[in-house]
Amino acid sequence: MNYIHSTIAQLKSSSPAQCEFYQAVEEVLESLEPILENSEKYKKNAIIQRLVEPERQIMFRVPWVDDEGNIQVNKGYRIEFNSALGPYKGGLRFHPSVNASIIKFLGFEQIFKNALTGLPIGGGKGGANFDPKGRSDAEIMRFCQSFMSELYRHIGPTTDVPAGDIGVGAREIGYMFGQYKRLTGRYEGVLTGKSLLWGGSLVRKEATGYGAVYFADYMLQARGGSLQGKRCLVSGAGNVAIYAMEKLYQMGATPVSCSDSRGTVYHESGIDLDLIKCLKEQSRDCLSTYKQTHPDAIYIAVNDYPKDGHAVWRFNADAAFPCATQNELTQGDANALLTGGCLLVSEGANMPSTKEAIESFIAAKIAYGPGKAANAGGVATSQLEMAQNASMQSWTFEEVDEKLKQIMKNIFVTANDTATEFGEPGNLLLGANIAGFRRVADAMIEQGVV
Ligand code: NDP
Repeated sequence: MNYIHSTIAQLKSSSPAQCEFYQAVEEVLESLEPILENSEKYKKNAIIQRLVEPERQIMFRVPWVDDEGNIQVNKGYRIEFNSALGPYKGGLRFHPSVNASIIKFLGFEQIFKNALTGLPIGGGKGGANFDPKGRSDAEIMRFCQSFMSELYRHIGPTTDVPAGDIGVGAREIGYMFGQYKRLTGRYEGVLTGKSLLWGGSLVRKEATGYGAVYFADYMLQARGGSLQGKRCLVSGAGNVAIYAMEKLYQMGATPVSCSDSRGTVYHESGIDLDLIKCLKEQSRDCLSTYKQTHPDAIYIAVNDYPKDGHAVWRFNADAAFPCATQNELTQGDANALLTGGCLLVSEGANMPSTKEAIESFIAAKIAYGPGKAANAGGVATSQLEMAQNASMQSWTFEEVDEKLKQIMKNIFVTANDTATEFGEPGNLLLGANIAGFRRVADAMIEQGVV
């Protein structure tokens, strides 16, 4: 058994039943074969064994009282995965599906994503199996305060700086920041994704979605094309999906679909973005009501999805932007996209495509932007928020947007050049994994056995 496969086998026996985590580890490690074969130093320094083991895993009880006076208990997590390049950086996810495997896969991906940005940030991730849906504002506040009552002792502006993710937006960041400040007495940049009123950065809200679209445009430019006039399928209707759709419109493309956990909307003439913002950012409603305003749109509920995948990918389009959650794009979905003429997939979400779907995209040689490259604009702009907090400055929207664009370009060029260097031009999965790995691994070697 070679170095990579023996490490994966060891991991499966020492961390049992963590499927999503194994999936992320296998995807990264398998594409590292070309660099590991050519360089003994990584094996000699046990880099792979060290990389797959988080530096620290914190699990804690989150007790809180609901509006009826009942005591509820959730599980909280913060995985501090790797600090070779800087303070741990990565979001907090509040969703009922959260478990140790999901947080570990997200934290593992985050190491390479953060390395790819070229910025001084390590990798971490956290969250809770808390379901914010249907909870009152007061319940959300009490949950966030309880979560932070444990988390505060593990984080800090130069040690670990969490941000948002699924179920955690500006409202939740606000409640957590308030509790951190109360417990520590310190007003400091310990969280990103803060409100613009008190330390947030312009463009942070838009950054992941905008970044995934900039990345898509760089992929197309390299093939002599552009997003202008393209019809695009988008999944999700949250933070990433909304701002991906906004940027698509700005770049002359048309988003024709979006989805949430209950169903998919397809609108031939283009998604009504103001309506989606109103439904999701203000009334926190579900997408089934979209048809009340647009009877010409199609709504498909999850129960009516194809057995081997998701309705959102079953329409003909030029490009696809998965922006909801992990494993939301299956082999069946990939086949449908390729048959329908799709030439580009840019992943706004983390690990949205299954292993088999990714293999189909790479075999078909379409432009495929893996999440750790395409959605890195969010964490990159979080780092810009940290930089503004530390220097007590506030940059304009245009300044931050320009930096974001430049970072996405650098990520594309780095992944693309690395793919070419290792004999697989255009394979951005291979290029992103190797480029991210090389930066972290070399830093780990220079810092000794820690
Ligand atoms: P949000 O909570 O704002 O939105 C998530 C969207 O996806 C919602 O529309 C939600 O539906 C839908 N969704 C969630 N889970 C499922 C599911 N199991 N099946 C179908 N739909 C689902 O999260 P974000 O937009 O912030 O995050 C989306 C993805 O992007 C995640 O993978 C996240 O890790 C990744 N990401 C986010 C970054 C950020 O800056 N926010 C940065 C980098 C990556 P509903 O409305 O019904 O809940």
